Amino acid sequence: MFRIGFGYDVHRLVEGRPLILGGVEIPYPFGLEGHSDADVLTHAIIDAIIGALGAGDIGQHFPDTDPKYKGVSSLSMLRTVMDLIKDDGYRLNNLDTTITAQAPKLAPHLSNMRERLAQTLEASVSQINIKATTSEGLGFCGRREGMEAFAVVSLVKE
Ligand code: MG
Repeated sequence: MFRIGFGYDVHRLVEGRPLILGGVEIPYPFGLEGHSDADVLTHAIIDAIIGALGAGDIGQHFPDTDPKYKGVSSLSMLRTVMDLIKDDGYRLNNLDTTITAQAPKLAPHLSNMRERLAQTLEASVSQINIKATTSEGLGFCGRREGMEAFAVVSLVKE
């Protein structure tokens, strides 16, 4: 039996924060603002998985009012979500994602992100795909005010 889930997230770009995407720190003078490490890609993935499990959304599982999650690595949140997958008797079938960012160039970092996510999701790199696109200078991503990410996941019953 298969389950499919979709996730979407946005974070604002600000000065003086590290830029973390897919658990990988990327050299850039701006980073994403948020309660946790604001890893927009990992948040979209978490929401896709929670959606596939029919278990609500990321805010219900990791409230941004809870000091426990202040500055926390989103990969550790993803690890918690991996436990939910296993508790329900599923495993990851495949994950496909897109990040919209005008800058910096993300291509050199995609394989590192895939490896980190594969490790956390107890999957092989071939089960995980990450795409990066600009928005051709349009909208908030184009103006470098923020980044957004989309994720689609399929889970299969063990
Ligand atoms: Mg978020």
